[in-house]
Amino acid sequence: MVYNPSLSFEVFPPNPAVGNEKIFQTLREMQDLAPHFISVTASNSKFNIEETTVRLTDFIRNDLAVPTIAHLPAIYLTKKMVSSILQALDRADVHKILALRGDRIPDLAPKGDFRYATDLIEFIREEAPHFELIGACYPEGHPDSASQIEDIQYLKKKVDAGCSSLITQLFFDNERFYDFQEKCILAGIDVPIYAGIMPIINRNQALRLLRTCENTHLPRKFRTILDKYEHDSESLRAAGLAYAVDQIVDLVAQDVAGVHLYTMNDAATAYHIYKATYPLFHDQGAVLGH
Ligand code: FAD
Repeated sequence: MVYNPSLSFEVFPPNPAVGNEKIFQTLREMQDLAPHFISVTASNSKFNIEETTVRLTDFIRNDLAVPTIAHLPAIYLTKKMVSSILQALDRADVHKILALRGDRIPDLAPKGDFRYATDLIEFIREEAPHFELIGACYPEGHPDSASQIEDIQYLKKKVDAGCSSLITQLFFDNERFYDFQEKCILAGIDVPIYAGIMPIINRNQALRLLRTCENTHLPRKFRTILDKYEHDSESLRAAGLAYAVDQIVDLVAQDVAGVHLYTMNDAATAYHIYKATYPLFHDQGAVLGH
């Protein structure tokens, strides 16, 4: 399938103690780039999704008039809690949800109502069918899965339960993504798959990535950048952005449905990527005067 590729952004809510002023300003700067949508992550352990994620999606939808998606990890929520969040989203007129299981937290017992994302999707389909549901997917396999094939089999069930599109985990090797896409087609998964791209722009981010993304293949070219510029922040930022732009150009040339940028709440990163790639995206407007 050939799509008009789109560029969208992900942000995360700040710690409530910090307040929302800075993120509101960041979102206003992102609004100028006419993103296809902005998604807002949610914590699966702090139980304050209505004050954080829902509040930010409300701002994006109603103050900025930009389409938005609320992330909703459900493993530590009850059906009653999810119903209350759905009502809050309804009041904010936000009707797109990234339906997630959420990571397991050691020593915290799951509530038991939602074992997998599919359980949440089935519940929302029943309870509030007017919501559009999006799912997460893993081009290099989810760490809990015994094999990629098994993971894709469950992904097919998730899509059949009612996902209109999928957003991928970040990846740095486009070949892994193309291989995954191919396998999805063979498995009968035919919804748009948005490619998650994270520009690596500082050392802490790079170190965290090396610690946590056990399944993510880091190509030689990418590792060389991290090694060479580890202690040269300006060069690391420049090289990380150039690497992400390179990935995006290749993805769009290969007819990706869309690119979803993990912005890390950095409007300057979103702007840099936009400026370097906007002619490739049909949805994005004439922000730079072209
Ligand atoms: P699922 O789809 O439920 O899959 C989890 C695992 O269970 C997989 O291995 C799958 O193969 C397997 N599985 C699925 N169904 C079954 C079944 N019926 N029987 C047996 N095995 C099954 N986390 C947050 O806490 N907050 C966020 O905002 C957030 N945003 C994210 C955004 C994106 C784009 C992505 C890719 C991930 C995000 N995550 C977020 C992380 C996500 O919550 C974790 O990766 C979590 O471990 C899995 O969530 P899932 O919805 O993909 O799970």
